[in-house]
Amino acid sequence: MQTKLLELLACPTCLGKLTCVAKGTSESGEIETGNLECEQCGKSYPIGGIPRFVPEDNYAASFGYQWNRFRSQQIDSVNGTEISKKRFYSETGWTPDWLHGKWILDAGCGAGRFLDVASNNDCEVVGIDISNATDAARSTLAGRKNVHLVQASIYELPFRSGAFDGCYSIGVIQHTPEPEKSIRSLPRVLKPDGRIALTIYERRRWTMLNSKYLIRPITRRMSKKAILYSIKCLMPILFAVTDVAALPFPLPIMLTNPNYRCANVISGRCSIPLTCSRLNTINRKRKRQRLRPCVRKASWI
Ligand SMILES: [Zn+2]
Repeated sequence: MQTKLLELLACPTCLGKLTCVAKGTSESGEIETGNLECEQCGKSYPIGGIPRFVPEDNYAASFGYQWNRFRSQQIDSVNGTEISKKRFYSETGWTPDWLHGKWILDAGCGAGRFLDVASNNDCEVVGIDISNATDAARSTLAGRKNVHLVQASIYELPFRSGAFDGCYSIGVIQHTPEPEKSIRSLPRVLKPDGRIALTIYERRRWTMLNSKYLIRPITRRMSKKAILYSIKCLMPILFAVTDVAALPFPLPIMLTNPNYRCANVISGRCSIPLTCSRLNTINRKRKRQRLRPCVRKASWI
């Protein structure tokens, strides 16, 4: 953890000021081990490379497994594509000029595909995720001084109010148990003129034909390793049957890279063309008016 992140952190329970008790630091000056102690309520949160505000075992553990197992599949700077870059700019509506000098929050960063893109600008980017996918992102983006990672829940953001200029959450909110609560937690950490960009997957009539729902009654009872093995065997068949609509998507990538398909299915996320993204870039003052259609149209599954 870099010391400049401390300026933004606050106790997720009471929003009190946190004092850092460092036990080990790296050669570059980053705090590797220690605790963050709340001056107000006395709670203590561990630093294990990055600040950890949630228990290791939580509902998103499968995402952690997914992104640590397939940590680099979607990272532009690793795979040489611009898929994440195009998606980031088109779905946020932001520009490199606007990002200049800003503090940006990635709510649900996963393995860090959009942190990889955003941090190519002259801005500071903080990625949070409830799963240990933050470790995958930390490993992939090691050495980038403008990238900060925090393992935390979107329901209890460990940041002081008004800490960020912008917040984006792309393809994440619909995976949380209470999506509306997730959305409503974000404006607090923004500055009064801050911007939010949310993308969610919209439910369509044929969404339930997606292969992930066909196999979910079975996969729910299986271990992660068994699921992964089964997916590798079954996906060539299921993919062909259920994902014909994927043709407009970069099909060659999906066909030539079985890990891409496995990575998306193992956490119940698959078939981008069978769902729909919806952009909602809102102004904090108008958040209620603009969030309602976003909340109604979301596929909360
Ligand atoms: Zn506290």
